[in-house]
Amino acid sequence: MASVVTPAIVLHAFDYSESSRIVRLATREAGVQSVLARGARRSQKRFGAALDLFAEGEVQFEVKAGRDLHTLSRFDATRGRRGIGESLGRFEGAAALGEVMLRVAPADDDSALAYDVLAAGLDDIATTSEPVVATLRAVWRLLAAIGYAPALDQCVHCGDTLPADGPVAFAAAVGGALCDRCARLAPARPLPAYARDQLRAWLGDEPRKPTGFDGPVERAHRRLLSGFVHAHVTDGQPLRAFDAWVQGSGAARDGAPAGPAS
Ligand SMILES: [Zn+2]
Repeated sequence: MASVVTPAIVLHAFDYSESSRIVRLATREAGVQSVLARGARRSQKRFGAALDLFAEGEVQFEVKAGRDLHTLSRFDATRGRRGIGESLGRFEGAAALGEVMLRVAPADDDSALAYDVLAAGLDDIATTSEPVVATLRAVWRLLAAIGYAPALDQCVHCGDTLPADGPVAFAAAVGGALCDRCARLAPARPLPAYARDQLRAWLGDEPRKPTGFDGPVERAHRRLLSGFVHAHVTDGQPLRAFDAWVQGSGAARDGAPAGPAS
């Protein structure tokens, strides 16, 4: 039995038997892992608040060959991110980001970069007054970290350089922007210049601007991201937390105008 020691973030946890919990972890060194936290239900002493959602710290778990569920032996929490629980918008955004990470389950080679992007995104969401924008940025950056950055400057199909400014045709299914010639051959939608610039800003190194969007712009960004996530991460399968976040249920309950469906 080998022992793994790595930074990790709690992304999902549920009860298992009368005394234990199963925890899904994003780890920095070993991708996404499921661990059994023996005694976590019976005694708060053993793992304490370390197993709260979105908490982060150094874990040690024992790996059994050929098994998918490992045994958690230690979790030294260093970050609780309690701010995420203080607003529904933050919680739904963090849950959406965490669910995409679980589904992506980056291979070991990519896991350190994806982990760092996830951790930074959760830190941002935990303290922001604009959780939708923080979530949009974090999910796009996570997609880029695992090799799914959308093409914005070159045609994703033929590689031609696109005009630097202005709108482009965009096809989520093939991975980004298309030149005029290729756009005639594939189903594409117009990506307005402001949205193209915004994606560049989110994927670049600038810090996030602490401002939000108008309702229609925000909804367009959610739909754009949703199309990309479903094309590249889930093979069209539904996601629970992410899809609810795309629908904006929390924002509606927080006081935004109710849509016809609510
Ligand atoms: Zn082209």
